Amino acid sequence: MPTWSSVVVATPAHSGLGPTLSYRSELSLAPGTLVRVPLGAREVLGVAWDGPDGPPPGMDASQGKPVLGALEGLTPLNAAWRQLVTFAARYYQRSLGEVALAALPPQLRELDAAQLARRLKRQAKAAAAHPAPTGTPVAVLPPSPEQEAVLQALPAATEPVLLFGATGSGKTEVYLRMTEDALASDPAAQVLVMVPEINLTPQLEARFRERFAAQYGDGAVVSMHSGMTPAQRLGSWLAAHSGAARIVLGTRMAIFASLPGLRLIVVDEEHDPSYKSQDGARYSARDLAVYRAKVESEALAARGQRCQVILGSATPSLESWHAADQGRYKRLEMPARIGGGSLPKLRLVDMNHQPKGASIAPPLLAAMEERIARGEQCLVLLNRRGYAPVLSCDACAWKSQCPNCSAFRVFHKLDRTLRCHHCGFTSRVPRACPDCGNLDIAPVGRGTEQIEEQLAGLLSSVKRPDGQPAKVARMDADTTRLKGSLEQQLAALHSGEVDVLVGTQMVAKGHDFRRITLVASINADAALFASDYRAPERLFALLMQAAGRAGRDAAQAGASEMWVQTWHPDHALFASLRKHDFPGFAAAQLADREAAGMPPFGFQALLRADARTQEAAQAFLNAAAEAAAALPHREEVTLYPAVPLTIQRVANVERAQLLVEAASRAALQRFLAAWQPLLLDGRSIPGARGLIRFAVDIDPVSI
Ligand code: ADP
Ligand code: ZN
Ligand code: ZN
Repeated sequence: MPTWSSVVVATPAHSGLGPTLSYRSELSLAPGTLVRVPLGAREVLGVAWDGPDGPPPGMDASQGKPVLGALEGLTPLNAAWRQLVTFAARYYQRSLGEVALAALPPQLRELDAAQLARRLKRQAKAAAAHPAPTGTPVAVLPPSPEQEAVLQALPAATEPVLLFGATGSGKTEVYLRMTEDALASDPAAQVLVMVPEINLTPQLEARFRERFAAQYGDGAVVSMHSGMTPAQRLGSWLAAHSGAARIVLGTRMAIFASLPGLRLIVVDEEHDPSYKSQDGARYSARDLAVYRAKVESEALAARGQRCQVILGSATPSLESWHAADQGRYKRLEMPARIGGGSLPKLRLVDMNHQPKGASIAPPLLAAMEERIARGEQCLVLLNRRGYAPVLSCDACAWKSQCPNCSAFRVFHKLDRTLRCHHCGFTSRVPRACPDCGNLDIAPVGRGTEQIEEQLAGLLSSVKRPDGQPAKVARMDADTTRLKGSLEQQLAALHSGEVDVLVGTQMVAKGHDFRRITLVASINADAALFASDYRAPERLFALLMQAAGRAGRDAAQAGASEMWVQTWHPDHALFASLRKHDFPGFAAAQLADREAAGMPPFGFQALLRADARTQEAAQAFLNAAAEAAAALPHREEVTLYPAVPLTIQRVANVERAQLLVEAASRAALQRFLAAWQPLLLDGRSIPGARGLIRFAVDIDPVSI
């Protein structure tokens, strides 16, 4: 007798279809079963869902479309996973199907039954071919006293743990030991470790492999991030889903991995904005990690087990810091660096007293020369790729404006291109001004390419202890585009081939550089006065992170320095930075936020609109606000007028946003839930002509 199954498929919320669709099936399908179903004229991947089993109202068994088949060889996605997806869809105001299907590897959608069967067979064969685990754990160093104290306290913590540990305090070692305990607790146990950047996964994978491969086999550690090929992603996903992978390392997308044995989630550098997705469902992988651990723990409680979550950072997000202040999170601290080395000393260069136009102030240059001569390395940070952010004509008003965006195209000298970093539009650098023919078009401002070039010139006569001339290199998104190039460049740095590394914030994060004793941030000021209220928090975190790259070798730590070139040396942020006083900085920021009702004391969402014209984008937003007037819970939120984004046009699309504020998370959610049907039903909002798309961003990380 045929039964009915609820199935979620990838339909956007505005499709008018319900959260789940009903299909006929011969056998009743367990929730979580992956199935193929017809949708219109197509055959699509779906997930059988919890829901009413009966036929939809007004339909009998002769009507309705049949499930075409279940994906064989795959166990159903478990209840905790489904609950995570359900929560994420509701909280971030997306459709269930959109979130559920986006959480699965893309290749799963494309394989037919035979291909999948072949794939699973290959996977099993590859797993069998891995060298058998020898069973011997590798020798590890005894934990430091601080690590010991944290490891003692961790098992007793029932709340999410905020591991507040200085850079180099050995947080990764704590993660490794907690992983070891979790894996030993249950033969099916799995651990998820997240990092903010793809770049950080290779070194993390190496460390976890080194520690666990002997005991659990080579296939026990897998990575998951968007830099992998579709086939690799499917491979990791299948390994995690089947339980063959015991440790999954990944970027934010990994939060949705199917992990039937999940016992521990680690979110390293939890403050990093990369954990917030900027398209599709704009989820925060950190926040979902906390939620997921709770749900998994509830499911495990009956067996006397749980899933713990550890958020680690030297500069926690103010949200997490505040949660720890309130006792919702358990704060554990490791203030000291391994080996007892001190954190680098802050040296502020007052740019008001430096020669005009010098991008590297003379005292900083002198300090770098000294370091190089001693065989030490320097790291120079500048958050701007390319040679110069603008190319400009001296004779007329021409600038290298992007024709598609309200932004300038960046001058890249090495390949002589003008490139828009927003839409990608690229052209050759013109020989003469396109407007007036003047041959004198000049770069304005500085990017990493230019600093690399200048430093190579300025340091050309400086010798290293081995008599070789100083070598300057650069590392940014441009130099690391090719596969393997990042590893090569890191290796060159580690081997001591490179004396000075110029790079963007990408090099400031996470890497363990032993011989760097001087870090310099040469243009940090923009963030001091940015309109985004989170800018100081970001800058402080970045500078602390960057400083953390210096003096990691305890023997040299005492003499290590963090240089910051600034026009505003008296800014309060630097006073906290000088003392490496994150708690002081956080307390001051939180006091400001509380006075202004900003997060984490207030709760925000953005309604964002893309349209052909700025007027249309704003008209839609303002009309949406007006349409909300009669909604329940309207009085619980404040709706601000629509405003253009800082970069208001990208790829010929005009962008605007409208801020929604509420005093509580629940109030914000109540209002958004009431608002969503209005937004989705285009007819209820006049002025939607010319609108391309809109999206709601809950808990936005940039305003
Ligand atoms: P963090 O993640 O807090 O920045 P790491 O975990 O990378 O710090 O540790 C910094 C350095 O200290 C690493 O080189 C690591 O191998 C080393 N280290 C960590 N714990 C110990 C320990 N207990 N004994 C000796 N060295 C350690
Ligand atoms: Zn001109
Ligand atoms: Zn552009």
